[in-house]
Amino acid sequence: MKNLLFGFIVVLLLVSCKNETDKATENSKATAEEVEKEMTSQDENFEVIPISHASMVLNWNDKTIYVDPVGGAETYATYPLADLILITDIHGDHMSIETLQGLNTEKAKIIVPQAVADSLPSDFDTQIDVLNNGDTKERFGFNIEAIPMYNLRSDALRFHPKGRGNGYVVENDGKRIYISGDTEDIPEMRALENIDKAFVCMNLPYTMTEMKAGDAVAEFKPKTVYPYHYRGADGFSNLDLFEVALRRLDTAKQIEIVRLNWYPVK
Ligand SMILES: [Zn+2]
Repeated sequence: MKNLLFGFIVVLLLVSCKNETDKATENSKATAEEVEKEMTSQDENFEVIPISHASMVLNWNDKTIYVDPVGGAETYATYPLADLILITDIHGDHMSIETLQGLNTEKAKIIVPQAVADSLPSDFDTQIDVLNNGDTKERFGFNIEAIPMYNLRSDALRFHPKGRGNGYVVENDGKRIYISGDTEDIPEMRALENIDKAFVCMNLPYTMTEMKAGDAVAEFKPKTVYPYHYRGADGFSNLDLFEVALRRLDTAKQIEIVRLNWYPVK
């Protein structure tokens, strides 16, 4: 009966999403532009530049953080040099040795899980900080905590076994940012507290559904959520469905959802 009811709700959501899709698509460009303006004018000390899929540049209180830089060093040519580079996992959409070697990283500390450290050439040894799940490190006034990221579904365990990769919570000047990495709706995510901005993945079969992501975000209640890492084996996840899943919970009404352009056409 529970399954039947759940199925009915999903169908309802899908139907209502379908009706909303055209409108949402029409508005998505304008929304992205508005958000960009909003971020530079209202939140001067924190700027998000989506590069692609899982990769981003954060300009935060005069420091620059690259998250999972991939896609070639030239992609980063117009941005300030990195003070911090955070890498979540060994897969090609998160770690690129070629990109790292092409970048000028001479002033950067590179924060990685052990599996990434083992994969990088030894020229990076002196600038690497290895964090295992639960470890913390302070660099340049930024406190970085490694959060577990892993799959729960038995058919997906091979993608991200617990303990190999890191999500991160980065804190500076009272602001706390969560970067999920590739994960399902694990208890460690649901238990996060006082997150200002959360970057949360949703794609199948590698991470989780939009419904699970919405449900988990409603539980830890960041002030703002940025859906990212949402291209799966069969195309893009439906961000409208994520929004519906999140909004159906009263506790999540105040959470701001910011859609950025994570998949620019090249
Ligand atoms: Zn990934």
